[in-house]
Amino acid sequence: MHNKTIAELSIALRDGQVSSTELTTQMLQRVKTHDATLNSFVTVTEDLALAQARAADERIAAGAAGPLTGIPIAHKDIFCTLDVRTSCGSRMLEGFVSPYDATVVANLQRAGAVMLGKTNMDEFAMGSSNETSYYGPVRNPWDTETVPGGSSGGSAAAVAARLCAAATGTDTGGSIRQPAALTGITGLKPTYGRCSRWGMIAFASSLDQAGPMTRSAEDAALMLAAMAGFDERDSTSAQRPVDDYVGALGSPIKGVRIGIVKEFMGEGLDAGVGASVSAALDELTRLGAELVEVSLPNAGLSVPAYYVVAPAECSSNLARFDGVRYGHRCTDPKDLEDLYKRSRSEGFGAEVKRRIMIGTYALSAGYYDAYYLKAQKVRQLIADDFRRAFAACDVIVGPTAPGTAFRLGEKADDPVSMYLQDIYTIAVNLAGLPGMSIPAPASDGMPVGLQLIGNYFDEARLLNVAHQLQLATDWHRQAPADFV
Ligand code: GLN
Repeated sequence: MHNKTIAELSIALRDGQVSSTELTTQMLQRVKTHDATLNSFVTVTEDLALAQARAADERIAAGAAGPLTGIPIAHKDIFCTLDVRTSCGSRMLEGFVSPYDATVVANLQRAGAVMLGKTNMDEFAMGSSNETSYYGPVRNPWDTETVPGGSSGGSAAAVAARLCAAATGTDTGGSIRQPAALTGITGLKPTYGRCSRWGMIAFASSLDQAGPMTRSAEDAALMLAAMAGFDERDSTSAQRPVDDYVGALGSPIKGVRIGIVKEFMGEGLDAGVGASVSAALDELTRLGAELVEVSLPNAGLSVPAYYVVAPAECSSNLARFDGVRYGHRCTDPKDLEDLYKRSRSEGFGAEVKRRIMIGTYALSAGYYDAYYLKAQKVRQLIADDFRRAFAACDVIVGPTAPGTAFRLGEKADDPVSMYLQDIYTIAVNLAGLPGMSIPAPASDGMPVGLQLIGNYFDEARLLNVAHQLQLATDWHRQAPADFV
């Protein structure tokens, strides 16, 4: 059962081939067996999961089930979960128990999904390898000496290793798509504002977006349908109806114009990844799509602009962790200043401190114009590039990450090389567009991600293109040999 997708499990549940209680018990057992190796979960909510599974079984028996009823999923530990520990991968929030559910969590619960637990992540979602977590690194199920990507590395590894049917993630600069690419799963970052940020611990508020991590595009459609929607508690939430993502999955892609970004296919791209992306493009052509070349002339500025905007916003967002209201507090502070200083010094890890310092500097009075304002202007130029590109194409397709999974520790002391993991994903966040990563053919036995970028709120089209490709190929069905 654990190899089945949500769509397949949903049929098995409704046909009585398995109950949610049986399925949940089986998945919890898999977590126990395999997570000693992977470290993808930080909290397992066994009792809660079984209670939710029993409720799901009643709903199924009553004929009131939806497609997610009884499906075991996991949440990235950045989402607040009522009465359940929420750590955001940080010592700062060690032992913090949230008094409420994030909107995305509540939406999935209402849809009947069963929560198995919370997944490991880079501290406050800062990282591309899941090595900055206070709870230790996550390992990639395809090769446990390599990283699963980050920051949603726990969710990615858990979905790839079949420890849960799907998981939630968040993406500020690539944190859903890059780990999806490195672990061979499907990940979708929706348009900024499509999913509520309420109860999702803030990193960089103008970039953060929640999305599904699954084993197929069809499953991503099922998850997004439940996650998305207007939320009056998030002032940046989009006040527009949610499209019928599942209903849109049937259209042939003949005539769809696929934009190839010329700046993304050259220098810096691993040759094996490039070949794999080309094979996927050939398949899209075979299905009737038309390839057109587009240009994003300012895309090269996206990483530098991001590393001003994201740290600036994080330095402000993380000011709330002062040792007073919640989170880590140092022992025996001398005075208030000592309390702030030592609580924050002890609570935050090195990468988070680096970001807070960069951000504070960039926002300081003398430098604001030179850095923050300049970065915001670059951001506008990048959005304009995409606007022009989407006049000539319907979907942009290219690589998600520049290479396959790298070895644990390989980039840990080289922040710039780590930051370049997101070279193809960050522009999408700066512009607020939807982006997706799906498996392309593997390179040397390791997964490769194909990125699909859509116009604003065009998730339905993105999901359909991905689904059509997955109907015609089996790249997304490959599984890490030790976890099938
Ligand atoms: N890797 C990027 C960073 O470290 C993006 C992280 C994310 O999307 N949360 O900031």
